[in-house]
Amino acid sequence: MKKIYLDNAATTRTDPEALKAMIQYFSGIYGNPSSIHSFGQEAKNAMEHSRFIAADFINASPEEIIFTGSGTESDNLAIKGVAYANGFRKTHIITSAIEHHAVLESCHNLEQSGFKISYIPVDSYGFVKLDDIKKAISKNTLLISIMHANNEIGTIQPVEEIGKIARENDIYYHMDAVQTFGHINIDVDKIGVDLLSASAHKLYGPKGVGLLYKRKGVKISPIITGGSQEYKLRASTENVPGIVGFGKAIELSKILIENEIAVQTRLRDKFIKGVNENIKNAFLNGHPARRLPNNINFSFDFIEGEGILMGLDMEGIAASTGSACSSGIMEPSYVIKAIGRNSVLARGSVRFSLGRFNTEDEIDFALKTLIKLVKRLRKISPLIK
Ligand SMILES: *Cc1c(COP(=O)(O)O)cnc(C)c1O
Repeated sequence: MKKIYLDNAATTRTDPEALKAMIQYFSGIYGNPSSIHSFGQEAKNAMEHSRFIAADFINASPEEIIFTGSGTESDNLAIKGVAYANGFRKTHIITSAIEHHAVLESCHNLEQSGFKISYIPVDSYGFVKLDDIKKAISKNTLLISIMHANNEIGTIQPVEEIGKIARENDIYYHMDAVQTFGHINIDVDKIGVDLLSASAHKLYGPKGVGLLYKRKGVKISPIITGGSQEYKLRASTENVPGIVGFGKAIELSKILIENEIAVQTRLRDKFIKGVNENIKNAFLNGHPARRLPNNINFSFDFIEGEGILMGLDMEGIAASTGSACSSGIMEPSYVIKAIGRNSVLARGSVRFSLGRFNTEDEIDFALKTLIKLVKRLRKISPLIK
């Protein structure tokens, strides 16, 4: 059976070119970049080249890029790092209800140490309302952390406006860009962002390497200590092969980005149109146009997302659902609930996320399979009376 991977928002296949670039840094050029001898310096040069590529990609400078172990770590470092460095003088953070758990739980952690967190709700498309952000601001507000695009529903937030609000009020702006870095264009100055998280494995790089962009002058404290790597902000011997693979992945994205946006947007919209025309009671989650080029997310009434995923998997198609299994029962997705869907629809959401290696034939086959599957599952659904 031919397998079709439509879960590129969860992770991507490492691009063979990125892998090729990495390989020699395992046992060929294996020095520790902190060592002063030639072995170390060779590794360091490769790492600094990636730092330059990453910075250039988002209109930053290399001194503003900190390599980390993941997108999750970058989110933690941004939020907790700013809070700790501020010495708890300002203790209020504004975030949204639909952030990734890495952001939400970093905020929860700070809540336990006395921070107040405002969770801004979203409208039916998943947009935060700018007025709600403005209303939440006080003299005590230290940070706004609102993502660039949501990982489940793909909605792209009005980040330039958010950046402007943050600037006008002298508040730091952190943006989780894990879903957008390498997929849509980012200019840190145009957005007015102070901290930005990205992760290599979401853009055809390896797993286990991320970065945090930190604007010059923004003060953060490290959360991992024990060495002076990464400008003393992230102790650990750097993952040199991973960072080299990340750099190569960014170079590839820079070349391919415009074409990928065009191709994926066309396939995305073809798929969405196909669902709307062939499946009744199917609801597109997120905004029809202001969404990630590779994101498709539907809720299907009367059936659970899990059933659809299992049916698709039997046909070799990999997709995902935002609802999570907890002790045997399916919990509705907090993102789908936040856009106002009822619990049945929040349990019945399915995400298809396209990627560089998908073909039009695959998308056509997935659509055809989905249409048949939803019909079959509805025939046996206990939710239809
Ligand atoms: C995947 C993801 C993360 C976590 O990144 P990891 O590198 O997998 O830890 C954080 N935020 C968003 C929006 C993501 O999609």
